[in-house]
Amino acid sequence: MTDSLSNCKLCLSAKADETGSHMLTAWIIASVFDEKGRKRDNEIIYNLDDQFFRFPYFGRSVSLDKINENIGRELSDSEIGSQKNIFIEDHVFCGNCEKRLKTIEDAFLEKVHRKLTKEKFETQDIISIEKKLITRVFFYSLIWRASISESIDFKLPQALENKLRVILNDTLELTLEETVENLEKHSFVILSLPMIVVKLEKTEYPTEMPVLFHTKYKKPLAL
Ligand SMILES: [Zn+2]
Repeated sequence: MTDSLSNCKLCLSAKADETGSHMLTAWIIASVFDEKGRKRDNEIIYNLDDQFFRFPYFGRSVSLDKINENIGRELSDSEIGSQKNIFIEDHVFCGNCEKRLKTIEDAFLEKVHRKLTKEKFETQDIISIEKKLITRVFFYSLIWRASISESIDFKLPQALENKLRVILNDTLELTLEETVENLEKHSFVILSLPMIVVKLEKTEYPTEMPVLFHTKYKKPLAL
């Protein structure tokens, strides 16, 4: 079985034996799609693409009442069988790379994201070079994963996708200490890409949020 697996898309060397990989960070997805901000399996995912309609995805723990409220009936057996969370894929990464991606996700969550609320915002703190690099590489990891994903309709130009893979592969380690060392070593190339990140806070229904990605307009690409 292992022999038939393709190679990990990040390191390109180990077998992609991981299943259930999040193509967009799990805690972002959980809080975006679930109305009470609970963990996975409570997501309800709609596709708002104007080109085609994709049947909504209901996480395994979504109640029958909730499904009824959304589509006016229960799911049929064939719909249950074809339900697919577009943000989760199998056999994309090896176990080691999955952990390396988690290093930057955890660092961004702890050091930047949790401090990015109005009350805690301290400009000097946020723009420290270490946090700037962590923030960029965290978002590069999201953008790159969306681009290599089979089911998310977002694709970077090939050269840029490769460039992001090399940055991630050259910098991510299992510990934050080693990762930060690498980030500083490669800071020139990391800071060379133009990027704007906008944080939207909703006070009402804060977890019912859209994820936007498209390739219709290329300057800039939006994810
Ligand atoms: Zn790997």
